[in-house]
Amino acid sequence: MTEAKYRGGCLCGDVKIAIDVEPQLHALCHCTDCQQESGSANMPDVVFPPGSVKVVKGSTTLFDDEKPSGNHVRHYFCGRCGSSLWTSVDALGKVEAVKLGTFSGPDGTGTEFFKPTGELFVKSKQKWLPAVEGAQQWQGMPS
Ligand SMILES: [Zn+2]
Ligand SMILES: [Zn+2]
Repeated sequence: MTEAKYRGGCLCGDVKIAIDVEPQLHALCHCTDCQQESGSANMPDVVFPPGSVKVVKGSTTLFDDEKPSGNHVRHYFCGRCGSSLWTSVDALGKVEAVKLGTFSGPDGTGTEFFKPTGELFVKSKQKWLPAVEGAQQWQGMPS
């Protein structure tokens, strides 16, 4: 078995994932859904092509959020510890937005590769947060 490019998991360790392709975008999403889902100011997302995420240990719980448009946003998380793992977004061609914290290891390892290249839904960004230098700014979805 070859080593996957990216490995991650949830806080309690029940769920582990592996990804063997490179991300399309390093996104920082300021939408209100991400704020509520994370309980935080925003969500750093590592955006991979559809079908990239493989669950290699345990199983995920799904919250399937059907929007008024008929598009689905599918949130995969650990049913035991509640860690958000990734979201599949119909409106963006079913890309898989893996939550950056999924890759966190001890002492800040595992997430060093990340630097936001785009900020999404800047219209609902917390007012006290400065823009990330060099990151493309989108008021809503990337266009
Ligand atoms: Zn867990
Ligand atoms: Zn969002």
